[in-house]
Amino acid sequence: MRILVAEHDPAFRAMLRSLLEGWGYEVVAVPDGEQACALLEAEEGPRLALLDWVASGIDGVELCRRARAASRTHYVYILLLTARTQSQDVVVGIQAGADDYVTKPFDPDELCARLWAGRRILELQEQLVKAREALREQATRDGLTGVWNRVTVLQNLDHELARAQREGSSVGVVMADLDCFKSINDEYGHSAGDAVLRQVAQRMQGNVRPYDSVGRYGGEEFLIVLPGCDHQGAVTQAERLRAAIGAQPFLLPGVTRPVTCSLGVTAADGSGPVDADRLMREADAALYLAKANGRDRTEAFAGGLAALSASSSPR
Ligand code: GH3
Ligand code: MG
Ligand code: MG
Repeated sequence: MRILVAEHDPAFRAMLRSLLEGWGYEVVAVPDGEQACALLEAEEGPRLALLDWVASGIDGVELCRRARAASRTHYVYILLLTARTQSQDVVVGIQAGADDYVTKPFDPDELCARLWAGRRILELQEQLVKAREALREQATRDGLTGVWNRVTVLQNLDHELARAQREGSSVGVVMADLDCFKSINDEYGHSAGDAVLRQVAQRMQGNVRPYDSVGRYGGEEFLIVLPGCDHQGAVTQAERLRAAIGAQPFLLPGVTRPVTCSLGVTAADGSGPVDADRLMREADAALYLAKANGRDRTEAFAGGLAALSASSSPR
């Protein structure tokens, strides 16, 4: 593990280096507060720090304050090294953000033990960060397919609509529903159906731009939000998705099976406020028409009624 040592006295710094290296640490030793500060604030800087109370330039207490004010993702565990023994100094150091302190001259075993205590805290913090990331992932992703879940893709739609209104740009919305999906479950079983859903999600994700949002809206229904796409752009994108699903059959255990989807398209042109509910209703109406007109096709919402804009012509 890397450890930052900020100590102005060269002899003491060399002694600390050899002691810490002997304990297996990778030592980054600096003589002054300015250099220490830069390392404490750096995102990839050491996470364990041994700071002299009276480093030249910026003192240890000020270093603690700056380290705590820095917006690093990871916590830095700070051990203050002080020759002062008065309790008021220790209070000031801890209030400034130090986690612990060791007074000079110190017992090496005590320093070693206190550093271990610091490492335990860092490990716990690492576990907390990982758990928080996993929770965020669970809360925003669909568990089966890995694309955004319904709540998140709808939030993305709201967000993009607000942005489009600010910037006068458009947002395309595509609602895609797999055709006769129930028959896949009936013929090959529910887990084969699940495998198809996962592959569909992958193909969709692989055929949109990085800033588009693909979400699982319901069972075998996907919502795709296309920032910057007008009606025509959204229809073109929907057709690309339809081709990506229908062009190659899906791999199921021991068999390949073609799957198609129907898509309903609408767009907000950024000329005025548009609420997401209305767009969803429009995309839904267009999808309904695509189903009614024979499936494996894209329909765009135009005016009060969804109008035919693309047919299931040979790909
Ligand atoms: P249509 O072309 O009209 O859309 O027909 P469909 O069969 O796709 O639509 P329907 O609404 O009749 O059936 C949807 C099926 O999707 C029924 C349901 O069991 C299945 N389904 C929904 N969620 C899942 C899932 O997570 N896994 C699997 N395997 N099947 C699912
Ligand atoms: Mg369906
Ligand atoms: Mg459906």
